[in-house]
Amino acid sequence: MLQNKGEVTAAITSVGGIGGHMTSSDNSNCQIQAAKGVINTGRIIGKNSVGGVVGEYAYSAPMTSTDGFILNKGAVEGNGDNVGGVIGRMGSNSDGSKYGNMGDVTNTGKYTGGVIGSWDSNKTSLENAFNTGNVVVTGEDAADVGGIAGRFTGVNIKNCYHTTEYPLIGNGEAEKDEITGKISNCYCMEKNTLPWDGEITKTTKAFTDGEVAYLLDGSGDSRRAELFWGQKIGTDQTPVLGGMTVYQDGSIYSNADGHHYGAPQYTWSESNMSCTARRICEGCENEESETVTASYTEEKAGCETNGKKEYKVEFKNPSFEVQTKTIMTDSLGHDVTDAVWSKDEKAHWKDCKNGCGKKLEQAEHTFQTIIDRQATESTEGSSHEECSVCGYQKAAVVIPVTGKEETTNEQPSNTNTLTVGQVVVNKADGSFYTIKKNAGKVHEVEYKAPKNKKQTKIAVPDSIKINGATYKVTSIAKSAFKNNKKLKTVTIGKNVSKIGKNVFSGCKKLKTITIKSTKLKAKTLSKSTFKGITKATTVKVPKKKLSAYKKLFKSRGLSSKVKVKAY
Ligand SMILES: [Zn+2]
Ligand SMILES: [Zn+2]
Ligand SMILES: [Zn+2]
Repeated sequence: MLQNKGEVTAAITSVGGIGGHMTSSDNSNCQIQAAKGVINTGRIIGKNSVGGVVGEYAYSAPMTSTDGFILNKGAVEGNGDNVGGVIGRMGSNSDGSKYGNMGDVTNTGKYTGGVIGSWDSNKTSLENAFNTGNVVVTGEDAADVGGIAGRFTGVNIKNCYHTTEYPLIGNGEAEKDEITGKISNCYCMEKNTLPWDGEITKTTKAFTDGEVAYLLDGSGDSRRAELFWGQKIGTDQTPVLGGMTVYQDGSIYSNADGHHYGAPQYTWSESNMSCTARRICEGCENEESETVTASYTEEKAGCETNGKKEYKVEFKNPSFEVQTKTIMTDSLGHDVTDAVWSKDEKAHWKDCKNGCGKKLEQAEHTFQTIIDRQATESTEGSSHEECSVCGYQKAAVVIPVTGKEETTNEQPSNTNTLTVGQVVVNKADGSFYTIKKNAGKVHEVEYKAPKNKKQTKIAVPDSIKINGATYKVTSIAKSAFKNNKKLKTVTIGKNVSKIGKNVFSGCKKLKTITIKSTKLKAKTLSKSTFKGITKATTVKVPKKKLSAYKKLFKSRGLSSKVKVKAY
């Protein structure tokens, strides 16, 4: 690298940081060709032909640096004609390239330029040059001021920029046509209100965001393969010779090659069976899109649980993310429309048609006694209990023949064929009885159950008549009145000597139990015979048994709160 850092002051013609007046006739060795660049940072003060690097360059070979640039950063101050940031006067027959000035240039005379004071070489061209220094002229003799060159009589200027308020070249009216070629692909800022043909005005933003740096090497088909310009966007305020490469993506310029995509948008199809991912480049509007068929998992809705379907798509493009969508469905609710009753021996219910296994409207049967065939004097009848809701039927029971009314003291018919254990219906009260003894003259039955559970009053008779024979009612079966919720009064006949367990339980309205029997003993009562009897019930007993029964009943579990009285 060839560099000057010192101040050069001479009130004469041809003053420069590296060379004063360089011509082949004066000095055959005086050509500047340096590797890694030529740079002046010192302050340069002179009169005519003053330049930061060279005052006057008239050598036939170009001033170049094979792998660098010819730059000036120092202040250049002239007091005459031909004053430029890099070269005061260019008289060489060589082209110029890769010149840059960042120092302030001041002058009082003619031909003042940011890079070159006066380019008088009429067969040559200038390219790849820039000026970011201030150009300031004072005094009434000052004229012909240019952002790049004060005067240009060469051929072409291309791929240059400057940031001054002056036109690219300062050629006045008289010198307007001295440029024999044209200006092309050169850039200035908006403060330059009189740009030349081919000088393109750009906003400050275009200079800072890399656009100008990119355009300086050409765009489209005319873009150069070898790039001269670059810019570290965000750091460099203007294009830099040899700066960091700038890439174009539509309207976006950056130091990284490639598109500038916005966030992907995902669109599900109406059926949710596919999803399209799409993203658009914010620079060039290039679109990437991909449509993928969804996979899904499903939890079916139950009668009481919501259903769920989860769709999922995975894209091949790694810039698109896995998408899921969940659709909830309402629970179905149970369905018993037109369902027939299901039943077992205790209860009936409806099965949900959706197959959930739930038993709906389940309830115990409500039995009614149906007489299928009335008994006559000589033929047995039959009846069965049937649920009034679901139609469930219990096994049929026999209704004994009615026999003849007993009008005399005749002995009962010996044609009585009832067997012990057989259940019969007593025609007189409709209640059920079980034959307990039926031999010779001994006929005994047990009270099994009333006709139905809707009666308010039940009397267990002393005896009943079957087939003309008289059967003593000697016992009451377990659970005989159980759950007769309407039952208020019960009378127990005088032949009853035994009462089973739980006979009264669930009889919530029971008020009075009248016991005519005097035969009850501890042995013939269960410990739970009186279970369920509360103080709302009064037990009436024969007068002569009052104290004995009080003691007996208490020992058999009757609450002491229940009143036991004589009738
Ligand atoms: Zn793009
Ligand atoms: Zn269901
Ligand atoms: Zn039923």
